[in-house]
Amino acid sequence: MTATSEMLAGLREAFAVQRTRPYEWRRNQLLRLKSMIDENEPALLEALHADLAKSGFEGRMTETGPVLTELAHALAHLKKWMRPRKVSTPLVNQPGHSRIVAEPLGVVLIIAPWNYPFNLLITPLIGAISAGNCAVLKPSELSPATSAVLARLIPSYLDTDAFRVVEGGVETAIDLLDHRFDHIFFTGSEGVGKSVMTAAARHLTPVTLELGGKSPCIVDGTCDLDVAARRITWAKFLNAGQTCIAPDYILVDETITEDLVARMKTSIRAFFGEDPRMSDDYPRMINARHFDRVRGLMRDGTIATGGSVDEASRYIAPTILTDVDPRSEIMNQEIFGPLLPVLTWKSIDEAVAFVNARPKPLALYLFSNSRDVRDTVLGQTSSGSACVNDAVMQISIPDLPFGGVGTSGMGAYHGRASFDTFSHAKSILTKTEWPDPPLRYPPFTKAKLRILKWFQ
Ligand code: NAD
Repeated sequence: MTATSEMLAGLREAFAVQRTRPYEWRRNQLLRLKSMIDENEPALLEALHADLAKSGFEGRMTETGPVLTELAHALAHLKKWMRPRKVSTPLVNQPGHSRIVAEPLGVVLIIAPWNYPFNLLITPLIGAISAGNCAVLKPSELSPATSAVLARLIPSYLDTDAFRVVEGGVETAIDLLDHRFDHIFFTGSEGVGKSVMTAAARHLTPVTLELGGKSPCIVDGTCDLDVAARRITWAKFLNAGQTCIAPDYILVDETITEDLVARMKTSIRAFFGEDPRMSDDYPRMINARHFDRVRGLMRDGTIATGGSVDEASRYIAPTILTDVDPRSEIMNQEIFGPLLPVLTWKSIDEAVAFVNARPKPLALYLFSNSRDVRDTVLGQTSSGSACVNDAVMQISIPDLPFGGVGTSGMGAYHGRASFDTFSHAKSILTKTEWPDPPLRYPPFTKAKLRILKWFQ
């Protein structure tokens, strides 16, 4: 028996003895998770700083804070989510009653990326716990400080018979995927998502894939350009652009392009000073490979602002690019770094056609106060989520399911959606034994058929 098989046998045993099912156990594990964050937030924020040079404020705002919000939401609603839902029972099955019971799936696997290494491992875990599952957690090897602190803390707060952290890289993930899980929740790139789904198919394991893509940000002349510039700049350069739902590129009405770019430059200066390299609030690229990749993409446009880099600290300045050819490399891969290409349109239909000619994005942003433009853009495009007159903030609403569509992913989580993702909705019909009319039993007669048609 390998170490992985042994670990999984232990988790299966804990699940089999019904340990994870009671409401009290789930609630207690969620409370323990909350204590883990409350008592160790400085260590968690330090690890995030070590991995990404994320400031303490940004770490709280985008990692520990949102997780605490999700936890509070789950604790407030768990009882209601667990309650069986009654549905109506048609006459044919009367007397009887029908209900839907949320059943835990069993042992689930959660694989996380490095860009929000705490949030993207723990938020799915909240769903797994709420729904009454055991879980194996695989943090990203590219954020080793966060991975190490989680591997240390989780076993000292959560039930070790039900939750295990497995640290490691690609080989570790592949070894885990060789085994059967009851659900796999993967956050990461499209390419690896395909490998995960292929591995899951061998065991017919259902998957949730939270992937990436190029999220467009459409801007028209009816919005408040100052606010739009500030919010886009914030959303794009948060985590130095290493955010799955960051605005990847801008599509702006050509008549206001210069105004928008000028205001975004002002916002960059206001946020990070004359030299963002000196700002404590501006993160770094995760590693040399991503640094080189993003630096290379800078060639694909005219630098309107930014453009400087420092290889030793993996710094890439917040950079706005104009004159970008839609066929260039930067427009054909997810940027995942602090480069913001600005493309223009003459009519909103052109912007919609541009979006629709590409794979369905994880998010779409629209800055507009025109009802017609909103209706056109939201009604004629498809994206995992959308946000009007802001960016990224849709992820912070627990009641809005978060997930992709098409190549940006499948399935969703956050709030109730997390509970549903990690549950099986079991349909149960309960009948009385009497009456038991002969209608459905052979021999079938014309008279019986007439009655059957009356019911159907
Ligand atoms: P990645 O796909 O390289 O890695 C993600 C995880 O998968 C890591 O834990 C890694 O160890 C593991 N992994 C790597 N290769 C594997 C393989 N062959 N088989 C199985 N597992 C493997 O992604 P990343 O670079 O860590 O993250 C960046 C990507 O994630 C971007 O595309 C981004 O858009 C996406 N992302 C999506 C969301 C979302 O919520 N939809 C959030 C954050 C990041």
